[in-house]
Amino acid sequence: MVKRVIVLCIDGCGPEYLQSSKVTFIERLGKKGCFLTGNSIIPSVTNVNVVSIITGKYPKEHGITTNYYFERETGRTVYMETSHFIKTSTLLEKGTKIGLKTGLLTSKDKLRTLLNRGAEISFSAENPPAWIKKQLSIPPPIYSIDVNIWLIKALRETILKEDLTLTFAVTTDYAMHKYPPKAEESKRHMEGIDSELGKTVEILERQGDEVLVCITADHGMSKKERAINLETVLKTHNVSATMNPIIADRYVVHHRNLGGAAYIYLHNIEDDQKCLKILENTEGVELILSRNQASTIFCLDKMRIGDFLVLGKKNYVFGLVEHEMVDVSLRSHGSMHEQKVPIIMNLPKFKPLGQLSKNKDLASHIMSWCTD
Ligand SMILES: [Zn+2]
Repeated sequence: MVKRVIVLCIDGCGPEYLQSSKVTFIERLGKKGCFLTGNSIIPSVTNVNVVSIITGKYPKEHGITTNYYFERETGRTVYMETSHFIKTSTLLEKGTKIGLKTGLLTSKDKLRTLLNRGAEISFSAENPPAWIKKQLSIPPPIYSIDVNIWLIKALRETILKEDLTLTFAVTTDYAMHKYPPKAEESKRHMEGIDSELGKTVEILERQGDEVLVCITADHGMSKKERAINLETVLKTHNVSATMNPIIADRYVVHHRNLGGAAYIYLHNIEDDQKCLKILENTEGVELILSRNQASTIFCLDKMRIGDFLVLGKKNYVFGLVEHEMVDVSLRSHGSMHEQKVPIIMNLPKFKPLGQLSKNKDLASHIMSWCTD
């Protein structure tokens, strides 16, 4: 009997996506173990959360505080998408160390380059090896629903071909940005993932393997109707600052770099009280925290955030839009309103379930199961 672990992060999968679809396999898994609603890490964006899930740590320790990092000293902006930004060890590194054969599969290539440290095998749907294209098909476009379903099929083929014992997979959230939970497209998406994952586990169990399956998400998704440019808001009050849209990444088609959280870097630190007052009274701002407060409350790395963290109300996003405020119609995330995520695991008699309140908490359960 071989013990195997499959960790699946369904990008953007708020619990309502599972509730609105017939995900019979995932429900069965949850009945064997647990099917909970927990919280993501704030800011509720992809890189911050996938790294929290794969390390089991808060950003304070692993160092990933944004998708898009503003380096104050140089004024440069960099995408946090390579693993050298991660300051702690990952599940894949720990797994390799204890003799597991580890693999990482992602839809987007930026997540492969961020998370692949310690993985013996890794590829993305954007850049797949020749053998999998031959075995399955050429992957569907990255801005499609089918790319994630393809990824789960690729996960099955790779586990079987490479005999992987610890596999971490991350889909892309294009489908959730585009479609609400009850849309037919969303149902097709979730049910496709569910059925391919079900087939995978069935094959492994039929050959006598014991498979631990853990499913969670990096964040949920909400409808957004108004976008605020905090830089412009501050400028009209004579405060000069740089706004870092935390959600920003290279894949902009689905959210236009508009998200529910932003860091503010003041050009003159003496403006801090003034900035606080202005943003507290700005439409759409739900919470504004100083660097110290944000680091304490949300366990963020102080050295890698702005002077302020601003979190939006449910229907608001922040970004570098052309005016102070504009009406928009999109689905996005980043704020506290997208922090509910599913936490599902098929472990029956596993004691410390009380600790499972955040997506990142799965990591310690996985490691203790692997070493049991
Ligand atoms: Zn995401």
